Amino acid sequence: MDKEAQYGGDYKFIPATSVASGMQLEIAPDIFSFTVQIVNLCFVGTPGQKEFVIVDAGMPGSAEDIITAAQERFGGDSKPKAIILTHGHFDHVGAVIELVQHWNIPVYAHEAELPYLTGKASYPEPDATVEGGLVAKMSPMFPNEPINLGSDVHSLPADGSVPHLPGFRWVHTPGHSPGHVSLFRDSDRALIAGDAFVTVKQESLYKVLTQQQEISGPPRYLTPDWKAAWDSVKKLEALKPFVAITGHGAPMAGELLAESLHRLVQEFDTIAIPDYGKYVDGESH
Ligand SMILES: [Zn+2]
Ligand SMILES: [Zn+2]
Repeated sequence: MDKEAQYGGDYKFIPATSVASGMQLEIAPDIFSFTVQIVNLCFVGTPGQKEFVIVDAGMPGSAEDIITAAQERFGGDSKPKAIILTHGHFDHVGAVIELVQHWNIPVYAHEAELPYLTGKASYPEPDATVEGGLVAKMSPMFPNEPINLGSDVHSLPADGSVPHLPGFRWVHTPGHSPGHVSLFRDSDRALIAGDAFVTVKQESLYKVLTQQQEISGPPRYLTPDWKAAWDSVKKLEALKPFVAITGHGAPMAGELLAESLHRLVQEFDTIAIPDYGKYVDGESH
């Protein structure tokens, strides 16, 4: 455990929540999703076997809730093997330091995300001017300074395998962030998509609060590269996932997922890319 590990200078609790906060859903016998305020994380592993992996690490201040949920599912003396990060945004690494300290476990992320996880580079400032709603307007309060996980964070294996998750492979899905990854399991076509696409219009406070389900591109206020983001959605659609757990919004499956993803790929310029904002050219799409 790296004793020097620390959050970014602007790390803080974010007072935003949703009706889904605290919700726990079993997506597959060994995939469990857990909602912390406005973000989802996953436990992957079979209860009773006491071995599991956590994908993403919740909001600032949520460590105790995550540890309790893990104990309830896997037993009091259970311990995850590792934490896999889809990317390093504040709402996906919010409790990672406390979790690493509690369990003394390694963290894995894509190589291109490591500068943002080792204190070397800050994400671009959130874009409060982007087309969207109140969450976009609130976004300047979101931390964007890098966390420093020091020697606790490691690069995902180059061969596409995911440590401690033998059936899964990681898929590079940049755009929302440079080293964003999604996790895919071929046997049941389960996809943990991170923020490559989400199932709630994350810019809208009303839709976040009520969790109205709707396919959407990556959260607009934090997405700097829309062309890469589109290519990433095409890559995920080509996998033909049967069920998708996204970083925000409720899980989606079956026909609804297939149709929604197809539509997102076809109409990404109108559904996902904002009409205006810092990271678009200002021309109408
Ligand atoms: Zn994100
Ligand atoms: Zn997110």
